[in-house]
Amino acid sequence: MLAFVFTFIIISLVMWAFFKFMYPKPPQQFMPKQGDVITPRDCDFCGYPLAEYRGVMETKPVDSLLESEQQQITELTSEVAAIKQQISTHESAVKNSAHQKSLSRQQKKQANANYEALQKQLFVKNQELKKMTSWFFCNYDHQADFHNKI
Ligand SMILES: [Zn+2]
Repeated sequence: MLAFVFTFIIISLVMWAFFKFMYPKPPQQFMPKQGDVITPRDCDFCGYPLAEYRGVMETKPVDSLLESEQQQITELTSEVAAIKQQISTHESAVKNSAHQKSLSRQQKKQANANYEALQKQLFVKNQELKKMTSWFFCNYDHQADFHNKI
């Protein structure tokens, strides 16, 4: 029995060392940092979906946009501004302690849920806006190939 346990421990240690050596942790600079967008976005050259912070973004030249696209961008920009306005209204309401005391727990919960929904909406709209106004590539090679193709 002791021999079995001993062998088992030895094997686990060897396996652990082996995996540690074969699959090292990626370097720190590959990890997402605070504020990095980790949602996937498709490469405009090859279509491969990649976490946004890993790729290359390039602002589209304004004259390459169609009129309908420009209109959509203007609409999105104003929507983003409206959501930001609502968020700042909420934030100032949170700071107002007299107003906070007048709210019931249920109302506070509701306000928090609204706030989170607004943040989510802001993120989604911002991503849409980014997609309209910029190209996205896996790497600089795909960026160069994309521009050579045109
Ligand atoms: Zn690509």
